[in-house]
Amino acid sequence: MRLGRDSGAQRRADGFGHAPDGERPRVAVVGAGIGGLTLAGAMAARGVPYVVYEQTRELAEVGAGVQLSPNAIRPLLRLGLGPALREHAVRIEAMEVRGWNGRPIARTPLGAECERMFAAPYLTIHRAHLHDALLSLVDRERLRLGERLRSAEALPEEGGVRLAFDDGSVRTADVVVGADGIHSTVRETLNTDAPVFSGLGIYRGLVPVTALPPAARERLVRLWLGPGGHFVCYPVASGAYLSYAATVPLASGTPPRESWSRPGDAEALRGVFGAWSGLVADVVAAVDATHLWALYDRPPLRAWSTDRITLLGDAAHPMLPFMAQGANQAIEDAMDLAACLTGAGAEEMPARLARYEAMRIPRTAEIQRGSRGNAGILHLADGPAQRRRDAQMAVHAALRDRTALYAHETGRSVVPAAEPVAAG
Ligand SMILES: Cc1cc2nc3c(=O)[nH]c(=O)nc-3n(C[C@H](O)[C@H](O)[C@H](O)COP(=O)(O)OP(=O)(O)OC[C@H]3O[C@@H](n4cnc5c(N)ncnc54)[C@H](O)[C@@H]3O)c2cc1C
Repeated sequence: MRLGRDSGAQRRADGFGHAPDGERPRVAVVGAGIGGLTLAGAMAARGVPYVVYEQTRELAEVGAGVQLSPNAIRPLLRLGLGPALREHAVRIEAMEVRGWNGRPIARTPLGAECERMFAAPYLTIHRAHLHDALLSLVDRERLRLGERLRSAEALPEEGGVRLAFDDGSVRTADVVVGADGIHSTVRETLNTDAPVFSGLGIYRGLVPVTALPPAARERLVRLWLGPGGHFVCYPVASGAYLSYAATVPLASGTPPRESWSRPGDAEALRGVFGAWSGLVADVVAAVDATHLWALYDRPPLRAWSTDRITLLGDAAHPMLPFMAQGANQAIEDAMDLAACLTGAGAEEMPARLARYEAMRIPRTAEIQRGSRGNAGILHLADGPAQRRRDAQMAVHAALRDRTALYAHETGRSVVPAAEPVAAG
């Protein structure tokens, strides 16, 4: 028996009934972050019926930037987001790494060289602009706001999944995708692990470039490394703002819960970074209000799907932000999962979900481990270990050293093409 198809009333209640979805399997996506929205957009392009359930009543992204690398830009361009990216994003010319006192460590050229090597630019963008662009791909009638998932339960007999929400409502779907972030409720149905506190916190925010010296207008991603902390900044919003992220150790004791909206102390930020070189001191001097996040990740999973339930983005592979790949990997997941779900009957879903996780786990696990590894080397005290690290970074600064990361292709057809696909 297929769930939720027994009557028109049932189909409407499940949220799938307003479109002629026919017998194609219906996918419920939990979470409308970057990962969930990319998946919805890619499924819309491929004709896969979906509904997105999002706990917040009003979609809003945090006031900060995100770096997008060619491995995610290529799929976003295929989804038709070129005009939105051109309007809001900043095309980065190079990534520069310096010591806290300004000594140069490494420079990776991006700009035209990146486009020549990887057929896409390296971009920085305000998270809200990316979120809005992704939202434009999603049918609003298929986006259910203010619906917080409480539990997901596979129904082996019927071959579907039962979703229970905080407001008491119950829905069914053929497949459920947990795109519900690091504290994923869907993941809890598959695993008993918990997020691991890194001991680090990160101040994030935006400063208008008009409050900064002309150097802030350069199209660079800049990193400064120092004892016990590091500082990253880059332009967003067509260059109108500089987005900064300053990582520091957090005092020991009960680790704070990871949160998107904890106010930080701008004076404490200045206390750590106020004497650092050049633009760092200028940026922290100009900070008015800031936010502080406690940083968590989880170790890689060996499996993240059952026959009818799978995970995507931070729900599947939360990582520390020290390779700037969390959102990029969520986009890759979404494109591969949409490809796996395309053209399959409900009975093929277990094999398709197994295929998806086999495609994604090795790559995302390596990036999770790499991001955690970077936490140990970015904050070295000045001395021999720091000099060895700097020398290594200089040697590996060439863009070709990013080939494994940036050349990766997503969304390839995973089965003999039985039907044409519109995107991905
Ligand atoms: C400081 C910092 C800097 C970063 N910089 C970068 C960068 O430069 N580049 C990069 O690629 N990545 C970066 N990342 C990582 C990136 O932000 C995340 O990996 C990415 O946002 C994950 O997207 P997601 O859609 O998987 O999850 P989220 O963005 O967490 O979205 C999850 C969604 O699910 C909803 N939800 C949660 N629970 C429920 C529920 N029970 N029911 C219904 N809805 C629910 C939430 O409200 C939310 O909308 C950074 C992260 C941090 C902390």
